[in-house]
Amino acid sequence: MLTVNAYAAPSATEPLGPTTIERRDVGPKDVLIEIRYAGVCHSDIHTVRGDWGQITYPQVVGHEIAGIVTEVGSEVTRHAVGDRVGVGCMVNSCRECENCLAGMENYCLAGNTQTYASVDRDGTITQGGYSTHVVVVEDFVLKIPDAIPLDKAAPLLCAGITTYSPLAHWNAGPGKKVAVVGLGGLGHLAVKIAHAMGAEVTVLSRTLSKKDDGLRFGADDYRATSDPDTFADLANTFDLIVNTVSAGIDLDAYLSLLRLDGTLVNVGAPAEPLPLSVFTLFGNRRSFAGSGIGSIAETQKMLDFCAEHSIAPETELIAAEAINEAYERVLKSDVRYRFVIDIATLA
Ligand code: NAP
Ligand code: ZN
Repeated sequence: MLTVNAYAAPSATEPLGPTTIERRDVGPKDVLIEIRYAGVCHSDIHTVRGDWGQITYPQVVGHEIAGIVTEVGSEVTRHAVGDRVGVGCMVNSCRECENCLAGMENYCLAGNTQTYASVDRDGTITQGGYSTHVVVVEDFVLKIPDAIPLDKAAPLLCAGITTYSPLAHWNAGPGKKVAVVGLGGLGHLAVKIAHAMGAEVTVLSRTLSKKDDGLRFGADDYRATSDPDTFADLANTFDLIVNTVSAGIDLDAYLSLLRLDGTLVNVGAPAEPLPLSVFTLFGNRRSFAGSGIGSIAETQKMLDFCAEHSIAPETELIAAEAINEAYERVLKSDVRYRFVIDIATLA
């Protein structure tokens, strides 16, 4: 066992604080990673605050992990000491269900083992990336292309793949009109990726306060959803809408913006169910869909795509002790556009 420094939530209502946690011994197929950077995803906040249900405390979160391999097990073939690597939202899956066999571990029918707050193979609760080291089975470790600095790679491991996957699945590309709802961590990467895929991109944000940024990230149009004219002007327009909002939205209003056979895919994960009228779906034969992160193979493809197209998140590097303040700023949408913890501050 390896005892490592970490930042943990002691309960749903107390601030995160410094602690130590145990990492398992490196098994034959495991990789030990010295974590350099950990992104701060809104899911981390939903999880520690109990938005999605009760969890076991203390809990270390963080599933946007980038670092360096410092030890490999005797049977490891994919990674070597010194490699620049990443870990996203999952660290294992059953490997035998229909979906795992099809290479889509993110949809493992037994439920994949999440990087944090999940029951691991050995019965312990997984602990995430706000820590100095992590031990992960090699198949769930990604290779970070040389062109992407580690601090910029971290947010791609969740925010990047979660937006890349639906954009790729629903064929965002030339001739397609794509809207991105919410310009936060996921949203700003969705804009950059959809633009690089060749789609015509519109940002739907609550106000125009981030308009210059949105246009710089590659958006062709930027509209305020607080302005009722937006919904009248853009009715029956989009082939695809990616909703990244962490809270509830009026789905019917956004669905009405889809043209014939358009799809609204929800990746935002609010605590409460979202109601919609089936009659909005009947019009224009619209679809409402969901999407959860992406497979390991697709995550590697996304990293390579971002390297090729020079796509990187806008990040603000913080010390571990600033995490509670960062959470408050995320909750106020005062983030431009992803906080990343410099894990050297935890050493
Ligand atoms: P974030 O950085 O906080 O961005 C969310 C954005 O939503 C904000 O920037 C804001 O955009 C908008 N927003 C926030 N509160 C709102 C409200 N009350 N009404 C309308 N718009 C609001 O969060 P994130 O890290 O991108 O994560 C977004 C969501 O995706 C979270 O719920 C997270 O748990 C979920 N998620 C899902 C997956 C998956 O696999 N499906 C993976 C990762 C994350 P504007 O200021 O532009 O309006
Ligand atoms: Zn995430």
